[in-house]
Amino acid sequence: MKKRKAICVCGFEARIDNMPKHQKSCVLFHTQKVKKEYEAEITRLNEKIKVLSKHAIPAQHITNNNINIVVYGTEELPEAYDMLKKLCQKGNFEHCVPRYVEMKHFPIPGKGNIRFIDDKLQIFSEKMPGEYEWVDVNKDTELENITERNMDEIINRYGNTNITNFHATWVEKHQVANLNSENFKTVAKNVENTIRKNS
Ligand SMILES: [Zn+2]
Repeated sequence: MKKRKAICVCGFEARIDNMPKHQKSCVLFHTQKVKKEYEAEITRLNEKIKVLSKHAIPAQHITNNNINIVVYGTEELPEAYDMLKKLCQKGNFEHCVPRYVEMKHFPIPGKGNIRFIDDKLQIFSEKMPGEYEWVDVNKDTELENITERNMDEIINRYGNTNITNFHATWVEKHQVANLNSENFKTVAKNVENTIRKNS
């Protein structure tokens, strides 16, 4: 009895019982096979998505607004080199500290650990282990402290690196570290505006 012939996708003709041997090494056959498998998988996943979205439950509203807020004074140090470099390249030294404060104290929008409520300045504190509260602080003193502390921190961390050292030079040359200088007051005001903007 004459065996039936088969044709491969590549055009190769052979007896049907010889075809598997050819297709084992046929690149075109293999490519088509993989493509079909992918297409089938995509169809299957799309069906699954349809089913799942029908049964989707709306995300639970988190009522505890304090979740993810880091206690004031225990922040992680931000990776601020790129940001500071850009400001220094533009000569925008007055915004180095405010932007650094923003990265450090407002790492997640709406989850900052210092805020203004009207004209009252508050910091997020740990009253006792596991118990947190917003505490009123003296606005002028705290704005001076946060500005001074972060100015020092920037100089310590980035004062010896390429371009960001311009900030350290600016601080030194204009005595910006002097709390009574106009420049210090400008930086502190910018810090205040940054906190207000994020409150
Ligand atoms: Zn083939």
